[in-house]
Amino acid sequence: KKNVVAIDGPSGAGKSTIAKIIAKKLGYFYLNTGAMYRAVALYLHRKGEKPSDEITEKDLKGIELDFDDEGNIYLNGENVSDKIITPEISKLASDFSKLKVVRKFLTEQQRKIGLSRPSVLEGRDIGTVVFPDAKYKFFLDASPEERARRRYLQLKEKNPETKITFEEVLKQQLERDKQDSSRDLAPLKKAEDAIYIDTTGMEIEDVVEKILEFIKE
Ligand code: C5P
Repeated sequence: KKNVVAIDGPSGAGKSTIAKIIAKKLGYFYLNTGAMYRAVALYLHRKGEKPSDEITEKDLKGIELDFDDEGNIYLNGENVSDKIITPEISKLASDFSKLKVVRKFLTEQQRKIGLSRPSVLEGRDIGTVVFPDAKYKFFLDASPEERARRRYLQLKEKNPETKITFEEVLKQQLERDKQDSSRDLAPLKKAEDAIYIDTTGMEIEDVVEKILEFIKE
């Protein structure tokens, strides 16, 4: 089995926070695959592209993604970590991630990274598609309200002036969840052999501890 920890689940379930801590504790590389889909969406959006089947491999040729140890993502050398968390890019990331050419492009890079060193990969399809033979698989979940609340606080923290309301965040999140779960390619779903953790009302440290217990076994 591959030396990979796969952490999947819907948005706001706590994946990023938890995956980052787990990676640090294990000394593993941390890869946020959602950020990769977001960065690709930002790139294509800037080029004026719309999510459609007309997008080809050629359109993705000019994309180079890099990461640092703090979990930042670089699009052709530019740190886009803060620019990709907006509601607009969230929606576009979900739209573009339906395309086969985009999934293939990123899945290949994710496999390459995961095979090059022990890694914690966080996303929607890591345990099902990218690394079905990952040594450890977790599926993090939480109630829709709690997930939207976390996203809302995160948006407020990054941009205190934002006018977005909690209700809007919740509505957008439900739409995105539905789209991510119902698409043909790599839909969001728990791998059969993944450990399901409902993080509603749980402290971050407790989720981390629970995951580490499984990994120590
Ligand atoms: O995890 P995050 O919310 O940042 O992901 C943004 C979007 O990227 C998701 O809504 C989903 O459509 C897409 N995604 C994906 N597969 C992954 C990670 C993210 O399709 N492994």
